[in-house]
Amino acid sequence: MPELPEVQTIVNELQTNLPGRKISSCRIIRESIVHGDHNRFQKIVEKKTIIKIDRLGKYIVIHLSTDVWIIVHLRMTGKFVLQPDSRSTHKHDRAVFQLDNRLKLIFSDVRCFGTLEVCDDLGKHKGLRQLGLDPWSKKLTAGILKLKFDARKIPIKTALLDQKIIAGLGNIYASEILFDAGINPMIPANKLSKGKLSAIIQSMRKILSLALKYNGTSISDYRRVDEKQGMFQNFLKVYGKADQKCLNCSSKIEKIVQNQRSTFLCPLCQK
Ligand SMILES: [Zn+2]
Repeated sequence: MPELPEVQTIVNELQTNLPGRKISSCRIIRESIVHGDHNRFQKIVEKKTIIKIDRLGKYIVIHLSTDVWIIVHLRMTGKFVLQPDSRSTHKHDRAVFQLDNRLKLIFSDVRCFGTLEVCDDLGKHKGLRQLGLDPWSKKLTAGILKLKFDARKIPIKTALLDQKIIAGLGNIYASEILFDAGINPMIPANKLSKGKLSAIIQSMRKILSLALKYNGTSISDYRRVDEKQGMFQNFLKVYGKADQKCLNCSSKIEKIVQNQRSTFLCPLCQK
């Protein structure tokens, strides 16, 4: 599932290519991916000019002329592909935006959990309104996390996945961040000192920046807009490494299940 570095990579690539382009036409191939009426979606986005592409949490927000936004969530396997308009339709293409420069922007999704919707007031969008702090927000401090985690007895790994607290993390980076910070993923969030929370914030920014530098992690379906892979999978230290040696101490990396999700950790390095 794409997390912050993967979504930001896609946003950066769309932002390089799309602003100023007009959507000549829009074809919805799989109607169920559109939240709301798909005919209305088509009508609203057609003939609009793309102004800017942003990321909010794991959402992609495409600002169109006359202040309407396309809000996209990639979920498990959603992706955007930019191709010449001569490219034939592929099996997993779900929506096609024909642009005015002989390119088309394709929303492709193998499993179809991804969503597209139009919105004319970002402040009223339920998913966006519920988003917690961005990992790079100046408001994200150890003090604020201490307050937010105060009543939460859930393990820190599970707390890091709660998009209403910090927006953008998923299973891969939560494991990597806690390994980097030397913190056991099973520790209840409300038991962590400000010093430990500060270490988590530092590791979060470090790991996410590095993952962004390598254009994200391609271990399953995630691909960039040009269909190339991200490269951060080559730098993962614990995720997917069960029974391999810890790079720091040579202990065996363990895999545990928390809240139905896999967590990877070094039992010696993460106390
Ligand atoms: Zn270790």
